[in-house]
Amino acid sequence: MQNVTHFSLKTLLLVSCGSLMTMACSAETSDEEALEPWQQAQKTEVWEPVPPVVETPKDAPPSDAIVLFDGSDLEEWEADDGGPAHWKLEEDAMTVARREGGIRTKRDFCDIQLHIEWRSPTDIEGMDGQDRGNSGIFLQERYEIQVLDSHENETYPNGQAGSVYKQHIPLVNATRPRGEWQTYDIIYTAPRFDDEDELESPAYVTVLHNGVVVQNHVEIQGKTEWIGAPSYDEAHGCDSLYLQDHDAAVSFRNIWVREL
Ligand code: MG
Repeated sequence: MQNVTHFSLKTLLLVSCGSLMTMACSAETSDEEALEPWQQAQKTEVWEPVPPVVETPKDAPPSDAIVLFDGSDLEEWEADDGGPAHWKLEEDAMTVARREGGIRTKRDFCDIQLHIEWRSPTDIEGMDGQDRGNSGIFLQERYEIQVLDSHENETYPNGQAGSVYKQHIPLVNATRPRGEWQTYDIIYTAPRFDDEDELESPAYVTVLHNGVVVQNHVEIQGKTEWIGAPSYDEAHGCDSLYLQDHDAAVSFRNIWVREL
């Protein structure tokens, strides 16, 4: 309808200018200027697609989230060997069963928004640096966002809490004292590979630690490595989220994802 009106107006102006042939009938009489401001404004309104409605209750995940852990069970998780996840359930949290291995989601994910809460253990006798409250969240089982008790605990900054381990130092240290619950909100774009399994575009990640941006859309350089440089040595599709057992009794709770 708008196009029809537009055309008619333009035609009308051209006809009248053609017959009069005066200076006044030059550029000033363009169809743009003949329109009312509200009509000009309408031209840049986009009415589709209409975003779906998401409910955002105050103390619960958004209505379109997949809840991976709400404190009741470990049904969404499995052990390294594919068997049942053995981490300890206490109150509304789960805690690393030290030296029994990490756990991964049974579901696979690509681009996601992840919310996860974690707590460093208070028993830290003889533990410093990377030994103190170490765990990690591995996106697609490969790319680690470090979990560490980085409150008054010196270590290499590209391995402290909120780092993309050995790749990106967090912008600030937003770590709360051990024993307190903390949040990570992670926005992750998975890497893309072409038909020849060559990297088409790398992964990107944004991380908020306790509501503070610590990684701002940084490029992930490849699979997390403890020794040596990271690389995308293997093409992959969607994959699990993995929580690390690094021999520290780190707890997690309230875990949910939204697929993007
Ligand atoms: Mg770790």
